[in-house]
Amino acid sequence: MSQTSEIPSTVHTRNDDSLSSSALNTDPPRSDAGENSAALTRSELPAVSVRDATKTFVRPDLSPIEAVDAVSMDVALGEFVVIVGPSGCGKSTLLNIIAGLVEPDSGTVGLEGDNEAQRIGRVAYMHQIDLLLPWRNVLSNATLGLEIAGIPRADADAKATELAQRFGIADFLNAYPATLSGGMRQRVALLRAVLPERDVLLLDEPFKALDAITRAELQRWLSDVLDRTNRATVMVTHDVEEALMLGDRVLVMSPRPGRIVLELDVDLPRPRPRDIVRDSKFVDYKWQLLSALDDDLTR
Ligand code: ADP
Ligand code: MG
Repeated sequence: MSQTSEIPSTVHTRNDDSLSSSALNTDPPRSDAGENSAALTRSELPAVSVRDATKTFVRPDLSPIEAVDAVSMDVALGEFVVIVGPSGCGKSTLLNIIAGLVEPDSGTVGLEGDNEAQRIGRVAYMHQIDLLLPWRNVLSNATLGLEIAGIPRADADAKATELAQRFGIADFLNAYPATLSGGMRQRVALLRAVLPERDVLLLDEPFKALDAITRAELQRWLSDVLDRTNRATVMVTHDVEEALMLGDRVLVMSPRPGRIVLELDVDLPRPRPRDIVRDSKFVDYKWQLLSALDDDLTR
């Protein structure tokens, strides 16, 4: 694999250690390249690299829709990248491209520098629509990813049950999705996405149907979990404060066709307390994001 041309000059890394420190860790130990190897070690390659990805949806008898236009981005292991952009600008399409569910018309997507890598199955994805299986109860929906990864049922159930407490769904483990509120379903979908500990985690508006208090609690929880593990996370949100509470980097997309119009490094300490929203740096970042989203603000 000679992919040196794919390596960006700076790879943002939040936390390179503690692969095994999380109570959630379910995967076998990962193998890094040997210390003496001349090749780049795994953690030096971007976990995800998108180069000039473009996607137009062609519809019979309708005009084509240019959803994503020449988007390039890298995400390192341990890094949390947030994408914000107006409705319909191609955010979900970009996540689908990263996940391998939609192939770009042109451009490439690589995992650890490998553009030929099979992405489905290596990427955990919480879709914008929760996609819970109606015939499975909450517990067996939550453990689906672990089941696919071959984790024994008792272990999977134990892990999911432990976290269900934190998610506020412990009393609903035997309930079926049809009986749950939108917010409850979303928590189950989030739990299902984070449990298998894949290297790449994609989250499409994971908190949108939640009330403000639950939202803040689950944001804090997610941030804690990701600080203790070493994943590359890409989250889509409409909410610039949420982007700044969680992101190491925030990418702003333009209205359709979605292009990246601003890339903001968020230089704020972690963990980020709620009152960081009053910090002058936070306020300045927020203004930068809002201005990039809406030209009218700065006119
Ligand atoms: P966002 O997530 O930013 O709201 P999407 O990525 O869902 O935007 O959609 C971008 C545009 O592409 C929208 O106009 C949407 O209708 C269109 N689109 C998305 N998926 C398809 C598809 N499978 N077929 C046709 N059009 C699509
Ligand atoms: Mg979307």
